[in-house]
Amino acid sequence: MSCRQYSLKIWNTFGINAYANNITIADSIDTILSCRWKQSVKKNEPTLLLGEGSNVLFLHDFHGHVFINRIKGISVTEVADAWLLHIGAGESWHQLVRKTLIHGLAGLENLALIPGRVGSAPIQNIGAYGVDFATVCEYVDIMFLTDYSQKRLYVHECCFGYRKSVFKNTYKNGYVITAVGLRLKKNWQPVLSYSQLRHLDPKTVTPREVYQTVCAMRRSKIPDPKHIGNAGSFFKNPSVTMSFANDFLTQHPTIPYFLKNNGEIMLSAGGLIDHCALKGYRVGGAAVYDKQALVLINTGGASGQDIINLARFVRRRVAEEFNVWLEPEVCFISSQGEIDPVEVIV
Ligand SMILES: Cc1cc2nc3c(=O)[nH]c(=O)nc-3n(C[C@H](O)[C@H](O)[C@H](O)COP(=O)(O)OP(=O)(O)OC[C@H]3O[C@@H](n4cnc5c(N)ncnc54)[C@H](O)[C@@H]3O)c2cc1C
Repeated sequence: MSCRQYSLKIWNTFGINAYANNITIADSIDTILSCRWKQSVKKNEPTLLLGEGSNVLFLHDFHGHVFINRIKGISVTEVADAWLLHIGAGESWHQLVRKTLIHGLAGLENLALIPGRVGSAPIQNIGAYGVDFATVCEYVDIMFLTDYSQKRLYVHECCFGYRKSVFKNTYKNGYVITAVGLRLKKNWQPVLSYSQLRHLDPKTVTPREVYQTVCAMRRSKIPDPKHIGNAGSFFKNPSVTMSFANDFLTQHPTIPYFLKNNGEIMLSAGGLIDHCALKGYRVGGAAVYDKQALVLINTGGASGQDIINLARFVRRRVAEEFNVWLEPEVCFISSQGEIDPVEVIV
């Protein structure tokens, strides 16, 4: 069955020209619950909720109904030691970072310029430059799509980790994130652990200076999806045990790595790909970005399959060279919905 009706090109930052049966922009929970969603469920038609499509790869046309989450609203409450924010899931993440800083609320500056909507931030626990969503999260509100009841999950229930959360497993299907709650402490401490922030003086630096430094760094090495289609880091940084890392880093001392709290080592996926001299490598319309090897780009007219073929090639080269298998960070969307990305690129 062909479903070439509504183009998803502007609804995914890779700029893949896949099509959906229907697209609805939902600016309230009521719109999500409207007859359209219920009709789709009744017809057994696949449904997909998107924020900005900045962490998805469409492999084919989507044979279902796409809902674009634009539930808005930001409210702020002051308590003795913090500012408590309640934010609608359809607010832009970067605009939230900007607005909080303009109003003198610090704590999100390291997470500037991450594309996407607030409601997607908990799903993979967005992170950058030493800070992740979990650090500021108070709660996540979800709605069950079976009986439309709602539930609040507090941060300790969200099982946040590196690019993971309860929304990647227990609450993966049949739920919508409708709002999140953040706690921004008044006693702000800059997080400058990331190597490119270490030149800043922790005693005098302001949240705005951290924000500007982060924005400048990101602009210099990550392509702007408005001009070059991409979904940020395509692969996750692989975790390895300390004993593997000891041998590995003796053989490959130039590969960057990070020490995790649980004693494991995380290797830089970008460093591994770069070491294989793959920057600029092309397959069809897809390429490894020449300024940052972890980013796969659409050079214009790439299909989802071009990106997959490139990702498979990169993954195999890295495994041949280092015996480390990379896993995609990006969600793969097939004609019926999300599928396991590792199964696709084996
Ligand atoms: C240039 C660029 C740079 C990036 N840099 C970073 C970075 O530094 N750190 C980082 O962590 N990520 C980064 N990313 C990835 C991406 O920005 C984040 O994962 C972001 O949170 C995705 O938001 P989104 O609204 O676009 O989600 P989408 O891509 O629209 O959706 C992602 C997944 O979440 C589901 N989903 C979306 N909204 C909801 C909801 N309300 N309820 C339930 N499920 C939902 C979707 O169905 C899909 O499976 C980057 C991406 C790009 C393009």
